[in-house]
Amino acid sequence: MVIDPAVTVAELAALAAELAALGLRPAVAWSTHPHWDHVLWSRSLGEAPRYAAPAAVSVAENERDGIVDGVEKSAPGHELSLVGQLTPLDAAAIPWDGPAARLIVHDGHAPGHGAVFLPDTGVLVAGDMCSDVEIPLPDTVAADPLGDYRTGMERLAAVPGVRQVVPGHGRVGDASEFRRRLALDAAYLKAITSGEPSGDPRLEDCAEWMLITHDEQVRYFQR
Ligand SMILES: [Zn+2]
Repeated sequence: MVIDPAVTVAELAALAAELAALGLRPAVAWSTHPHWDHVLWSRSLGEAPRYAAPAAVSVAENERDGIVDGVEKSAPGHELSLVGQLTPLDAAAIPWDGPAARLIVHDGHAPGHGAVFLPDTGVLVAGDMCSDVEIPLPDTVAADPLGDYRTGMERLAAVPGVRQVVPGHGRVGDASEFRRRLALDAAYLKAITSGEPSGDPRLEDCAEWMLITHDEQVRYFQR
């Protein structure tokens, strides 16, 4: 199972080569959410069905131009006909013959954001939530960005038996790190919605886009 397969053309090629060297080929794929860096694919990964939650697939279709634009600007060279080619899957788990893969769908960071939990190993693939390097990025074009984000966090927090969290950006964390990130995210959201300085450690020495986004979020929630 391949979930959100990397970003650059070279990374996808390396992933395909690594799998091939192990005698593996993707049987199924999942995109956690409809942002350009999570809906990529390479022909070298084969023709596995690529699923996402129905709301995510709608956005990927309706906002295709913006997604393709993001790919061309930030990770050029992909075969664009493969970008965002997703099949909607409205299910509690991914249908395949491998280890159980439960879906936790919410609208926190994007519509139809679907984390994948592998109960046999306690691995939670969180998509763009629970990052050690990125602040919470609520979907500010939604009707209730904060409510959606908090619901997403609650659903992830309620998953029993998480032993490792894998964020879309950042490092893998263990169970206590998972709880620490949820608490850090809750504190960040509380700060920006109450107009207090967040003091979030992830804003120290971070990329400029994140500082800009943080300022935008502060302004957004002060309105
Ligand atoms: Zn994202």
